[in-house]
Amino acid sequence: MENDNLEIIAHNLGKPMFNFCPICRKKLIEPGKFESIKTKISYIVICPICGILNFSSDLKSHIVQAMFSKSKGTLNDDNPYTEFYRFIMNNYHTVGSYLYWRKNKEEVFNINKEKFTEIANNPDLPKALIQKRDQLLLNIYNRTEYFESSVQIEKDGWYLCYAKNEKEFNSILNQCETDKLIKRTHSAGVINQNSDTLPERDPYYKVTLTQKGFSKVEEIIEKEKSKVSNNAFVVMKLDGHEGMYQNFYNFTVKPAIKKAGYNPLPIVDKATTDLLITEIMEEIRKSAFVVVIMAKHYPELNRDKILKKEEHDSNYNIYWEAGFAKGCGKEVFLLYPDSIGKVYIPFDLHSFRQYRYDSKKMKETQPDLIRLLSSNIIEIVGKGREHHREAD
Ligand SMILES: [Zn+2]
Repeated sequence: MENDNLEIIAHNLGKPMFNFCPICRKKLIEPGKFESIKTKISYIVICPICGILNFSSDLKSHIVQAMFSKSKGTLNDDNPYTEFYRFIMNNYHTVGSYLYWRKNKEEVFNINKEKFTEIANNPDLPKALIQKRDQLLLNIYNRTEYFESSVQIEKDGWYLCYAKNEKEFNSILNQCETDKLIKRTHSAGVINQNSDTLPERDPYYKVTLTQKGFSKVEEIIEKEKSKVSNNAFVVMKLDGHEGMYQNFYNFTVKPAIKKAGYNPLPIVDKATTDLLITEIMEEIRKSAFVVVIMAKHYPELNRDKILKKEEHDSNYNIYWEAGFAKGCGKEVFLLYPDSIGKVYIPFDLHSFRQYRYDSKKMKETQPDLIRLLSSNIIEIVGKGREHHREAD
């Protein structure tokens, strides 16, 4: 982006009412509105690209300062703020693209300095050129109505594929053309025959997926399906907020998984009532590995009570989920209580990696188990992509 343009936008953004989006810099649908709840000041922005955003005032002023520093050439000066200003200028396109692609865009998205940093550092977002190209092809594919029909693409549509700027966006489009994945129409402009005015610059390209492009998209979709996330699925008995398994999860299992660099993903509570099997299957299929917490003992089931939904034994789900994970080729880490003698286990456990936990210390951290489990995860599955602080 041109530096004078940057200065104009920064000036505009510095005002209480402003016309440009602080993230993507596109013109807003209506001017950004100042909002104050108690002593907290924020800004409501309705952006055609990013959706509805609620900006913390400090993030907004940091962005304004970052743009000014860039346009004045002082971005590389040494002062306590310039490091974050550089971070903003290097990452606004990642955050803008993330906001464009996010689900539930009709909901207000709260964004502050921490949230901006978190999105910019998300290791799962497209960073390599090939990933950006795939994202663009998917977008074109999703908007294509029928074979050979064309799609309008904004010439400055960097947010469609996490491109750094218009220049990188165009080089990705060029690459797609060279590889014969798309056909693009360069329209010269909208020419009005009845007037003497110069033709305006058409802000759009017309893009059509070729047969080869369609095959590529199919390949991308298949690849997406088999993509392994940085999540570790945790199968456990749900016993409420203060329950012993919940405590064991919080104090020992969660820290062990985080220490290995993964995001622990316990089964959500609603799963036991609605049994969202397909959702669970999808999560297990995508997860990096699965941790199963075997319960201390299994209550005798009362069939009448189960039919009346007065009783539910999630332990049976545990067996099913552990088996499904194994069938998907996932590494399964099985944690079983020291009082294993009382546990009735209806299948052969030898194919699972087993770890004993202290069932009398569920409300405490079990440091030996954390060390053993995390180092085994790293050894067998590899180190996760996320870096967590030791505490937590
Ligand atoms: Zn925006």
